[in-house]
Amino acid sequence: MPNIQLTFPDGTTKEFPHGVTALEVAKSIGPRLAAEALAARVNGRLVDLSSRLEESAPIQLITPNSPEGLEIYRHSSAHLLAAAVLELYPDAHPGVGPATDSGFFYDFYRPQPFTEADLAKIELKMQELVRADLPYERVTFGKDEGLKLFEEKGEFLKCELIREKAEPVFSAYRTGKFLDFCRGPHIPSTGRIKAVKLLSVAGARWKGDEHSHPLQRIYGTAFFNQKELDAHLHQLEEAKRRDHRRLGKDLDLFSIQDEAGPGLVFWHPKGGIIRKEIEDFLRAELLARGYELVYTPHVARLDLWKTSGHANFYRENMFTTMALDDAEYQLKPMNCPGHIMIYKSSRRSYRELPMRLAEFGTVYRYERSGVMHGLLRVRGFTQDDAHIFCAPEQIEDEIAACVEFAKLVLTTFGFERYEVELSVRDAAEPAKYAGAAEDWERAEGALEKTLSRMGIPFKRMEGEAVFYGPKIDVKLIDAIGRPWQLSTVQFDFSLPVRFGLEYVGADGRAHTPLMVHRALLGSVERFFGVLIEHYAGAFPLWLAPVQAVVLPVSEKHLDYARSVAGELRAAKFRAHLDDRNEKLNARVRDAQLQKVPLMLVVGDREAQGHGVAVRRRDTGDAGFRPLAELMGWMRELIDTRAVKW
Ligand SMILES: [Zn+2]
Ligand SMILES: [Zn+2]
Repeated sequence: MPNIQLTFPDGTTKEFPHGVTALEVAKSIGPRLAAEALAARVNGRLVDLSSRLEESAPIQLITPNSPEGLEIYRHSSAHLLAAAVLELYPDAHPGVGPATDSGFFYDFYRPQPFTEADLAKIELKMQELVRADLPYERVTFGKDEGLKLFEEKGEFLKCELIREKAEPVFSAYRTGKFLDFCRGPHIPSTGRIKAVKLLSVAGARWKGDEHSHPLQRIYGTAFFNQKELDAHLHQLEEAKRRDHRRLGKDLDLFSIQDEAGPGLVFWHPKGGIIRKEIEDFLRAELLARGYELVYTPHVARLDLWKTSGHANFYRENMFTTMALDDAEYQLKPMNCPGHIMIYKSSRRSYRELPMRLAEFGTVYRYERSGVMHGLLRVRGFTQDDAHIFCAPEQIEDEIAACVEFAKLVLTTFGFERYEVELSVRDAAEPAKYAGAAEDWERAEGALEKTLSRMGIPFKRMEGEAVFYGPKIDVKLIDAIGRPWQLSTVQFDFSLPVRFGLEYVGADGRAHTPLMVHRALLGSVERFFGVLIEHYAGAFPLWLAPVQAVVLPVSEKHLDYARSVAGELRAAKFRAHLDDRNEKLNARVRDAQLQKVPLMLVVGDREAQGHGVAVRRRDTGDAGFRPLAELMGWMRELIDTRAVKW
């Protein structure tokens, strides 16, 4: 057999004997690479290091630094999990076991539930198998022969997959007692797994079908070293501590009640006051920035949603229609048609543009009952929505103003880091998109130019735009490094045409305005959930539902305590008097648990000096302060919406 030519990512080509393995290729480059390599990409296809190369091709060795490396490593860890489970529980039948964004899982059919103690045992067994350094051995079968083998082993789930998906000759991988119908690739052997941890077990269904076999899904995660795993586990702990569903209950901020239905949020008084502060801040900024505030109905005739196109392309996300005596009605999933109705209500001149219509618009979208998650995934929510109608020459200024506004929102709530994505069309498929090519060019150009001019780094997402226009997405990074989708600035070349929107230009002729949808918080509910987790429930003074709690040392200081609380309230602070007949320590602890920023203790000395003994939520004792001085300081913190104080 003649030698083959392999071309490396840097463009160099080397000659190798026919049938050389990818591992041998790595070794020829250096022992370090051979030790690090996990798999290889040959001719665009990912393969095992043990695979034999039989023709000339481009080759790239996959290491922990390659984007694909972690996924292969975690998928291999899922095999390790299954191998350990089969050693310990021969009655378990494996389903599927993919890598996920943050780890991996494996599904098993087994009548008896896995317990926490079982997970610990499985993890020990996994470590034992790592030490044994078992290879991920690739074997191939003819379909009938392979199927028979899996049938003999009683692996009915795997058999179903083989019947459905296997080629006439298919591959399987053996790791210890576990044989998996799998395309691969995998890492060479279990000894390469350096840091792996099982996290939890949860119920699942075969193929996600609720009528199919009940399965147990064991979740785990794996990293290339212990340090990264520890950091991840710490982040999971932090996320648990900050979980907005738990804090929402502990701090009495909101509830979601089965009697009313999943995904529908009840804002309790303490959550309500935070929402009011958020909305007040935004409304004042909207007005200062030339937006006009509007209100639109929550339901409208289905015909309106036919004109907008939602009844067609957005149907699956809408609640079903209601038949009234005059027509069918639709609960609104979006605010756009409402704002368009206002634009359309009279003949518009170029002098009225840009027209910026804003609304805290509550919308309802259908989500399956099983997928709801606290405030993050709901069926009813309020968008801080606005639509900008403008002339083409105004678009750059409008985009810049939107991005500035989004930045202000981020910094106001104390988010220091964010990521920006620019989604543009796939230039190769112009037929997929609504609107004229020149409009797209202008819009994409405006978005890109604005971001560059403002010095904002962004990721350009080719082909990610929706059919009706390009957009900018802003993702904030929270206190523990998690990204959350926040603001969107979205062009729309479709709706103005569908609704026949016009304005009379300076030339006296009718023109179609450009339309931009923009939401800064996105969903107020979701943003609130993110805020709760970002602050771990400890809101800055301007947002805190109770800003100060007044604590009389004993009953004889009650009158003075009342007057302090009264003065604070008269000065528009949210002050609460805790006059319960409890020990001072217990009341301080309760205020601390409720994350009240300021605890104001009053006794003889404070009454004499017309002041309070300040205890801060974060740093504890802050000593005596005259009441007037304290109020001046609080006012300053609140008016500047200080996040750090
Ligand atoms: Zn596999
Ligand atoms: Zn819209």
